[in-house]
Amino acid sequence: MSEYKALKEEAFEANREIPRHNLAIYTWGNVSAFDGGKGVFAIKPSGVAYEALTPESMVVVGLDGAVVEGALKPSSDMETHRVLYAAFPGIGGITHTHAAFSTAWAQARRSVPVLGTTHADYAAGEIPCTAFMDEAAVKRDYERETGNLIVAAFAERGLDYHDVPMVLVAGHGPFTWGKSAAESVYHAVTLEEICKIALYTAALNPLSLEALPAHIMRKHWERKHGKGAYYGQR
Ligand SMILES: [Zn+2]
Repeated sequence: MSEYKALKEEAFEANREIPRHNLAIYTWGNVSAFDGGKGVFAIKPSGVAYEALTPESMVVVGLDGAVVEGALKPSSDMETHRVLYAAFPGIGGITHTHAAFSTAWAQARRSVPVLGTTHADYAAGEIPCTAFMDEAAVKRDYERETGNLIVAAFAERGLDYHDVPMVLVAGHGPFTWGKSAAESVYHAVTLEEICKIALYTAALNPLSLEALPAHIMRKHWERKHGKGAYYGQR
């Protein structure tokens, strides 16, 4: 029996959530689950439809990018996942989709400002949109450089990846992460809703878009995720 059975199950279950939440059609999207102790992650195989996935079909990859277990080729976005696991210690899952509203903001190359408390409940600041990738980086290693672009977007802004567990890659789409693969999908669903509401807000009030005051933004974040968090059942 595979020592990665539980990790592959986790990745499989999380990938199945993608079509359930209408986050992707066909094979547009992928989720991975990371085991920090073993230094490996299980990821969706490339080009396989969600209905055809099985736990066994998940591909296990090491932090060096080498396939550790699996008969199929890993998702073409595998290198982006690998760069993020290496750069963002403590995350346990990553989701990438082309969900319509999130992708619209990525294509417009607009970071999503904190316009309301829905956003503040899940991200303690604007959701950054990266720069466009330059030609040299595309030629070097497109998927790896996508990861580097995300890491740079957080570094440039002095943004903590725990505070804002989501990003928009310019002209491409969203990546989200979390403590587990399931939480990264949850954040992808959340991001899609935030982007949808933000788009409607901008349509209704395009000229006087003011960010939510910082004290309200912080309050919403802290009551859910801060030291004295009191949201939900204890
Ligand atoms: Zn993509």
